[in-house]
Amino acid sequence: MVEQFILNDLKDIIDRGKEILEKQPNLSLQKFSTIDSGEVNPLTKEIMSRQATMNIGTIGHVAHGKTTLVRAISGIQTIRYRIEKERNITYNLGYANAKLYKCPKCAPPECYKAYGSEKEDLTKCEVCGSLMTLLRHVSFVDCPGHDILMATMLNGAAVMDAALLLVAANVPCPQPQTSEHLAAVENMDVKNIIIVQNKIDIVIKDNTAKDQYKQIKKFVQGTYASTSPIIPISAQLKYNIDVVIQYICQLPVPKRDITSPPRFIVVRSFDVNHPGEESQNLKGGIAGGTLVRGVLKVGEVVEIRPGSIVKDANGDIKITKIFTRIVSLQAEKNNLIYAIPGGLIGVGLKIDPHLTRGNRLVGRILGHPGKLPDIFSKVDVRCHLLRRLLGVRPKEGNRNLEHVGELRRQEVLLLNVGSTSVGGKVIKINGDNQEEITFELMNPVCAEIGEKIAISKKIEKSWRLIGWGEVLRG
Ligand code: GDP
Ligand code: MG
Repeated sequence: MVEQFILNDLKDIIDRGKEILEKQPNLSLQKFSTIDSGEVNPLTKEIMSRQATMNIGTIGHVAHGKTTLVRAISGIQTIRYRIEKERNITYNLGYANAKLYKCPKCAPPECYKAYGSEKEDLTKCEVCGSLMTLLRHVSFVDCPGHDILMATMLNGAAVMDAALLLVAANVPCPQPQTSEHLAAVENMDVKNIIIVQNKIDIVIKDNTAKDQYKQIKKFVQGTYASTSPIIPISAQLKYNIDVVIQYICQLPVPKRDITSPPRFIVVRSFDVNHPGEESQNLKGGIAGGTLVRGVLKVGEVVEIRPGSIVKDANGDIKITKIFTRIVSLQAEKNNLIYAIPGGLIGVGLKIDPHLTRGNRLVGRILGHPGKLPDIFSKVDVRCHLLRRLLGVRPKEGNRNLEHVGELRRQEVLLLNVGSTSVGGKVIKINGDNQEEITFELMNPVCAEIGEKIAISKKIEKSWRLIGWGEVLRG
């Protein structure tokens, strides 16, 4: 049994919260009374000043320039892990925030400017000196383009308010993951898509870009992207980045449910203590993730579900509930006393740090005690299986690769539920088109009835997306 130490000095925490806010005098002061009034939205000044309130995903084929574009806008290198730097691909979803401003005097598109999350509210235009208006504070979810990493991408899709679809101008469109990713975001009901035709610098001399424009138009016909703008850019040379910012500023403001109990999905967790720290100096642990709905406040008691999962000697799974208290909230380097949905939020918890070490809490859900979805170890899913794999061109080779084929009992598939990937063994198949499948889960997961899940299958050593499903019952 894992002992939890919960702080009782709530007043202390709140006083400290106030003190922390005052350390960033160039940002708006947050007040609990604002959030308690319920009259807030993603453009509320004291919120947008400190945290991103809108999530924008980058999708498209590997090496088409997703990471370069995010860096061009935000100035932040989203590739953060060493192994990723070596291979130059984005394994974990990278997050990078940008504050988007407009100068009232300069002409469009030059009047659109992007800065980091810490930029003060009152910022002057570098060209004419006028005081600019903060229009949006966005968070880019930089998705990996690699096949095997499709699952990671789908986690991101669940929290995307809009997507930037990257198409490299120097190769025919679509490439395999161009179609796979577009299909995935459509399934996740991401309606706002901006198409970015990148690497325009390479094809500047001939008609390639114009011809490809027609290809793109044809490719997106009948999809959510059919009426999307197609912006020619060079992410590397930062050409037309202001136009991309302009279109982002024109996206509809996401509708947020902030009155329901909070639901926070953990996408990473770590321990901020130094090894051998004295117990009175322990800082607890940090859970980083996205708030899907509701509000989190410093000082609140929260539950993490499923709690700590331990297999006993007989192989039986034992789940211990975790209750703890929020001691701090952060969005990038900005301190918060409350958070609404948008961006990656770091939640400081008065928790035994070993529980948060090394991403141990990933996939868990955090919210008010007793107000979280049920834990399932078996689920019935209504499936929509693809008949053929997306993005595999028939001529390219192996015909067997193209077809998804029938599912068999005992087969193990990879299911993406919320931010968790979990193995699911097929134990029952019903319906003429295999539309109802019962899965036995390798690990218990927290899921809601009606929740959408992604289903992948191992084909030639890599996990490929083969369909989607909806949780019917557990
Ligand atoms: P991702 O896999 O979609 O994230 O692609 P990256 O952003 O990592 O870019 C892949 C490669 O394309 C890198 O070597 C970039 O330097 C290059 N690249 C990105 N944008 C441009 C561009 O606008 N022009 C040119 N010439 N190269 C680019
Ligand atoms: Mg990348």
